[in-house]
Amino acid sequence: MKIALIAHDELKDTMVNFCIAYEGILKEHVLFSTGTTGKRIEAATELKIDKVKSGPLGGDQQIGALIAQDELDLVIFLRDPLTSQPHEPDIQALIRLCDVYKIPVATNIATGELLVKAMERGEFSWRLYKKS
Ligand code: PGA
Repeated sequence: MKIALIAHDELKDTMVNFCIAYEGILKEHVLFSTGTTGKRIEAATELKIDKVKSGPLGGDQQIGALIAQDELDLVIFLRDPLTSQPHEPDIQALIRLCDVYKIPVATNIATGELLVKAMERGEFSWRLYKKS
């Protein structure tokens, strides 16, 4: 599976802790992330991450392009709903593409945990819907 990990600044600590907690599962997959999120995860874990640009510099659009090219299977995007983001249109566009291509997307840690646990159990049936 190819997984994208993205977290807004207020949620980067949460993302790092999430990756530490689920490192054993995540290391079995191909990981992508926006620039700063990826650096933070790599500093705290042994995970190898393919990093695109930082979100405000186009990283969210790059992740969106990967979705459009069928290069991603799952997105965990810890969004901060309380802080205005300068690149909000890019964030909305990325989430829209997840819906267009039927990619499972978690926008908070609770859903992220459910998706990772589903992955661990090999529950990949959404791939069937993706192709339709
Ligand atoms: P960052 O980007 O990981 O480079 O901070 C995330 C975002 O703001 O969308």
